[in-house]
Amino acid sequence: MHASAWQAALAAAVRDPLELLTLLELPRELAPAASAAAAQFPLRVPRGYLARMEKGNPHDPLLRQILPLSEELRPQRGFVTDPVGDLDAMAATGVLHKYHGRALLVTTGACAVHCRYCFRRHFPYSEAHAGTEHWTAALDYLRADTSIHEVILSGGDPLSLGNGRLHELMTRIGAIDHVRRLRIHTRQPIVLPERVDAELLRCLRNYRLPVVVVVHCNHPNEIDAAVCTALGELRGCIASLLNQSVLLRRVNDDSSTLAGLSETLFRAGVLPYYLHLLDPVAGAGHFAVAEAEARALLGALRARLPGYLVPQLVRERRGAPSKTPLV
Ligand SMILES: *Cc1c(COP(=O)(O)O)cnc(C)c1O
Ligand code: SF4
Repeated sequence: MHASAWQAALAAAVRDPLELLTLLELPRELAPAASAAAAQFPLRVPRGYLARMEKGNPHDPLLRQILPLSEELRPQRGFVTDPVGDLDAMAATGVLHKYHGRALLVTTGACAVHCRYCFRRHFPYSEAHAGTEHWTAALDYLRADTSIHEVILSGGDPLSLGNGRLHELMTRIGAIDHVRRLRIHTRQPIVLPERVDAELLRCLRNYRLPVVVVVHCNHPNEIDAAVCTALGELRGCIASLLNQSVLLRRVNDDSSTLAGLSETLFRAGVLPYYLHLLDPVAGAGHFAVAEAEARALLGALRARLPGYLVPQLVRERRGAPSKTPLV
């Protein structure tokens, strides 16, 4: 089958640490650590996202999100492989049902980018995602529980599915009477704006249910002209376009960066939704921001932005009935 533009861009993503360093004019001395850490969780970054980084700057906030570092290999107390209890919450293959009224579908393990702080970096996707062969069980579960009013497509990144498979899945979910809304959690409009193509937009526009898309963007530099265009097109086809971020040490842990992020998102038609405290996943300890510091940052943000541009600071606690707000 002829690959679409986004599939070609996805296939061309940089996976070799040495190539990454060369393209960004960074010292080759970073390569051994990057390769060692990449052996645990591979490097993966689309070229368009890489182009938004500053050459020669090892502290670039976008680079820091994707460059494997030796810190990842150092065990840290309290940082574990399943930090939010996903494996216990698996209600059926690929279905996470933790909160009332909402069920989350792990549609695929694939992502366009590998974020070093990802809370699912150790998730056993090969056994636990609702791939085509498992959709039947996942859909049976959604159909049987009439309290489920919203289905969340997550992953991995659900937009890693081709338009055909996505359309099929959406149609089957749309046929369930008690489902009122569909939500899509995706980082692809940010890291691979090519993914927002005409066929996807048509599928969203013609869908039976209102669609909410929650993108994932952590820093204003992630939004360039192509991303802005993709977000604008997306917004025109759905009910609501929101953003979630993770609070990350030396990426976005200061109030002017966070304020800039909210302003930039707003200009692109996106409202901030959640700012997550880092989940304590093994390998990501160097991204952690302490809770007291996070609260102070939010206070500073509230003092300089309208309320609707201030995200809710939340953390995920194992067994809690919702995300836990930190106020
Ligand atoms: C975060 C999450 C949701 C969504 O929670 P909202 O507060 O509605 O955004 C739903 N299900 C699971 C399993 C989640 O982790
Ligand atoms: S896009 Fe999301 S799921 Fe994929 S690696 Fe990044 S944080 Fe994890």
